[in-house]
Amino acid sequence: MNKRLNINQIGLNIFPCLLCGTAESGRHGICPACEHALPRNASACQRCALPIPQSSHTRVCGQCLDSPPHYHQALAPYIYAAPIDALITGLKFRRQLHCARLLGSLLARHLQENLRQYPECIVPVPLHPSRLRERGYNQALELARPLAQALGIRLEKTLAQRVRHTRPQTELKLTSRAANLRQAFRVHRSPCYRHVAIVDDVITSGHTANALACEFRRQGVEKVEIWAIARAVCRAK
Ligand SMILES: [Zn+2]
Ligand SMILES: [Zn+2]
Repeated sequence: MNKRLNINQIGLNIFPCLLCGTAESGRHGICPACEHALPRNASACQRCALPIPQSSHTRVCGQCLDSPPHYHQALAPYIYAAPIDALITGLKFRRQLHCARLLGSLLARHLQENLRQYPECIVPVPLHPSRLRERGYNQALELARPLAQALGIRLEKTLAQRVRHTRPQTELKLTSRAANLRQAFRVHRSPCYRHVAIVDDVITSGHTANALACEFRRQGVEKVEIWAIARAVCRAK
């Protein structure tokens, strides 16, 4: 009988680590050594998850103090750097959908350890229909699926829509990013949620999450939080 079939039947994982490819992977798809070496976002702004010095006497960054975002808090367990960036770009641009299960379970564990109160639903940042057709899937939805399952929270796939086709944020200067997203999203009014979590793969400038959070707040949602696997270290000017 086929050996792999036998092992799958009893639920063991003998696939190689997604990062080093040599050792046996653990429960999450990477080996314990690689997991230990991931760039943790250990000291972050409580509001936007931007890394701040451990010595900082406040837990909120200067930018959030000056101009607080529409969301209540952002959680991103890793810094967008090697080697986790390769897993994220693999998921986003190279159809490596198996990375979503790994990244989703790493994020779920971080949330289980750090969240005091769960939201009523999880909303992946939507893609514009034309970009969805081009890519064939939404990486934020692929990340949100295992997350919703692990945490037992309702997944709202169509509550938010991207109604304006915007230029990719990465093509723009930081100063133009907020303007690029003006009226980019629409949120349906129907279910009266009070607490919602928006899921994205990476928080870069934070403008995308903030634009969507703004729409939820306009629809009367009291508390919006942002969950992402990683936070890019860039400051909006
Ligand atoms: Zn490894
Ligand atoms: Zn901040």
